[in-house]
Order: sequence, then C-alpha cells, then structure tokens
Amino acid sequence: MQNPLNDYTSKRDFAKTPEPEGGKSSPGDKPIFVIQKHDASNLHYDLRLEVNGVLKSWAVPKGPSTDPDEKRLAMPTEDHPIAYARFEGVIPEDEYGGGTVMIWDRGTYINLKADSNGEGEEPVSMEEAWGNGKITVWLEGEKLQGGYALIRTGKGNDARWLFFKMKDEKADARRNPVSTEPDSVASGRSLEEIAEGERD
Ligand code: MN
Repeated sequence: MQNPLNDYTSKRDFAKTPEPEGGKSSPGDKPIFVIQKHDASNLHYDLRLEVNGVLKSWAVPKGPSTDPDEKRLAMPTEDHPIAYARFEGVIPEDEYGGGTVMIWDRGTYINLKADSNGEGEEPVSMEEAWGNGKITVWLEGEKLQGGYALIRTGKGNDARWLFFKMKDEKADARRNPVSTEPDSVASGRSLEEIAEGERD
C-alpha cells in the first residue's frame, strides 16, 4: 500500500519548515480532531480528523459555525501525520503553506455511524464514511461540541465538501466562535503573538 503521507512529505522540505515530518497515533480510547487557524496567502481553518493513523484534512475558508443553517465549504487537502495536531508555529514564507499556524480548537470525536442505529442501518467505519463522502461525528472540543457533518458534493477534481453543525442541543445560532474566540486553545496566543514569538 502506498504511504498515505507521501503527498504531505513531498510538498515539504523538513530542513526548512518546523512542521513535523511524521508521527504515529498516540494510544487512547477516542480518535482526535484539531482545527488549525492558518494565516497563509488566505486565512483559513484546517479541519483534521484522525482516521486510520493519519489526519484526514480539509481547508475551511470561513471556519466552522455553531449554526446548523451555516454550511461551510471544506476543500479536501492531503493527509497529515497525527503529530501535526500539536503543531503551532510559523512556516517560513517561501515554504509550502508559508504563514502562521494556530491550534484554534482540539479534542476527541465519536463516529456517529460507528454503531448500528437500531433502525436497520449497518455500522459505517470512519474510513468508509470518508470514502462515501458522508461523515457525521460528535466533536468534544474546547470551542466546538456536538454533532457535525461533512458531506461531499461533486466528483474527482471537482469534489468539495460541506461542513456544518447538525441540529442537536449543542447547536447555537447566536454563538460565533470564529469571531468571539479567535485565540489558541493550546497557548492562549493570538496569530500575531505566535508570529512574534518566532521572531524573538
Ligand atoms: Mn492550511
């Protein structure tokens, strides 16, 4: 089988970028997720879910919403190593993805299709759900909680996904954490403070 991180590795020069070169899953009961705020050529939010030893990844230009009526575009990007979930820092300007990376939210998740729902539906693994383009997860993050869906539309090079809050008790159309909770859950720093920290 092809190494799922070949794409990630081939885009980067690890002599120049502080990003992790690899790293395996840490043992734990639940898979992890992370959302990294990335101030590259365009500010965006990178959503990553642990699936089979890698981080499946999407770039979400507007970031996540807690309002089920707000469906956010999520462009698929290359699988990242699990260790990437702990990366916060600055990628040099000339390197792939050059710019500041913040750990905006993090936590664990539950695959909502992992168990048969009692209505005749078969359990679906995360890898199958990713392949089908129909992922539903329960996030247990510091900023985001509750059910979220990732639904693929289009095919091949036109594939894009929509990322949105499902209707449950954690949905809240009045919250807007992208604007009201802008800083790192790992260090409390703003993007500017992370960038300045690297220059000191
Ligand atoms: Mn990015």
